[in-house]
Amino acid sequence: MVEALINVVGLENVLYGGAEKVRFSHIWATDIPLAAKGVVFPQTTEQVSEVLQLFNSHREEVVIHGGLTNLVGGTQTTSNQWVLSLEKMNAIEEIDESAKTITAQAGVVLEQLIEATAQRNLFLPLNFGAKGSAQIGGVISTNAGGMRVFRYGMTRALVLGLEVVLPTGTIISSLKKIIKDNSGYDLKQLFIGAEGTLGVITKACFRLYEQPTSRYAALVGMQSFQDVISLLRMMDKNLSGNLSSFELMWNVTYRAATNADTAQSPPLPQDYRFYVFIESLGNDLAADYILFEDGLTRAAEKELIVDAVLAQSKREVEKLWRIREDTHRLRQSFVATQHFDISFPIGVMDNEVATIVNDLEAFPFVERVLPFGHIADGNIHLIVGKKDSKQQNSKKINEIVYRNLKKHLGSVSAEHGIGLDKKEYLYCSKTSQEIALMKTLKRTLDPKNILNPSRIF
Ligand SMILES: Cc1cc2nc3c(=O)[nH]c(=O)nc-3n(C[C@H](O)[C@H](O)[C@H](O)COP(=O)(O)OP(=O)(O)OC[C@H]3O[C@@H](n4cnc5c(N)ncnc54)[C@H](O)[C@@H]3O)c2cc1C
Repeated sequence: MVEALINVVGLENVLYGGAEKVRFSHIWATDIPLAAKGVVFPQTTEQVSEVLQLFNSHREEVVIHGGLTNLVGGTQTTSNQWVLSLEKMNAIEEIDESAKTITAQAGVVLEQLIEATAQRNLFLPLNFGAKGSAQIGGVISTNAGGMRVFRYGMTRALVLGLEVVLPTGTIISSLKKIIKDNSGYDLKQLFIGAEGTLGVITKACFRLYEQPTSRYAALVGMQSFQDVISLLRMMDKNLSGNLSSFELMWNVTYRAATNADTAQSPPLPQDYRFYVFIESLGNDLAADYILFEDGLTRAAEKELIVDAVLAQSKREVEKLWRIREDTHRLRQSFVATQHFDISFPIGVMDNEVATIVNDLEAFPFVERVLPFGHIADGNIHLIVGKKDSKQQNSKKINEIVYRNLKKHLGSVSAEHGIGLDKKEYLYCSKTSQEIALMKTLKRTLDPKNILNPSRIF
């Protein structure tokens, strides 16, 4: 197999025989050497196809590696599996300013794509904490969301075309730049959010927007969840389409994010029940500021907001926003953590989160629960800080967090996917008929079950 792989991609693009141990399976576990038969780095779509044909004909299991930032164990491997890394397919192939699209290979890091579009005064609205490492193949495979979903949709809404290699090696190329295409099934959607179980994404074409020329941000302190919902509706209406982010932090999370250890000084006092980060993106510097300030003033007059800080410069906007973006650092103060990204209808969110936090903190092995999230999308993240990493305790925590999802038609994974970690709870989000159909698709496209096996189900 090694010889055959070297024949396809060249000696310098295969790590094996112990050399693969310099790699790892997650950016948070760089001290744990990769367990795998080897790592292959194709440089072209044709090479991906040939490598997959080899794996498929020899029934060799292979796990795809992008930027390794997923939060569900999606890139974990065992020592009898191969790794296919897309990191050497990292070219931006075209920016089409008239069609407002960017076409790139799967290994391009998201932040580089964002910067390349900004240089042409265009805008890719994807924005989340892992953008400096996540690669677009991984971002598409996890249908990543982030902080601007409310206005621009998930990754799914931004992908116009895809090139994918099926587990059998067939190349499906549809790098279209058009928004409208109803010529039969929209096949690209099959691969978006499929967590690499149905094919390897090799290239993608993204839809772009005009680069906003104004960006304003504020942090507001609030005392009731009902006021948070009212403020969301009010800002949405008053900002005439400019509202781009509306992110909520519970008091305990704000305190943790702005204490001495995090080196972030609190822009607002630490004793309000809720904190909302609001962002507006628009194209009229002066008028947008007035609109934003007016919206906040009106909210204060209605006593929805009890305190607010409005960033006055680009630096201040970034500083404010960093408190929200750096929430992953909060895990560092605990012995072990569990991360959740669940969805509930916004109307039941307050009660559900309060009950979950209460019940979890009653466990002697739970130190603290930190809730925050993309409230405008009904998506809450929970970091559960624990005193140990015992498996049986993790299970007890899962049971509490997931127990009411089915009842409220929520989701076990709003953004991060299922991977290996959440398989047991897929039934909370999908009916048995849906799961059966998903399995039929997997069997059809990957009859030998070689690609990202055991992920999702
Ligand atoms: C600090 C932090 C903040 C985050 N914030 C958010 C957030 O706000 N919203 C959100 O949605 N997510 C968030 N995430 C998770 C996010 O989903 C992932 O970071 C990202 O989308 C995955 O990209 P990646 O290149 O790292 O993929 P990887 O982690 O390498 O892979 C993810 C999955 O996709 C598969 N895969 C990778 N590349 C390909 C490919 N080319 N073709 C087919 N399958 C492939 C892998 O096998 C794996 O199953 C966050 C993660 C971190 C660490």
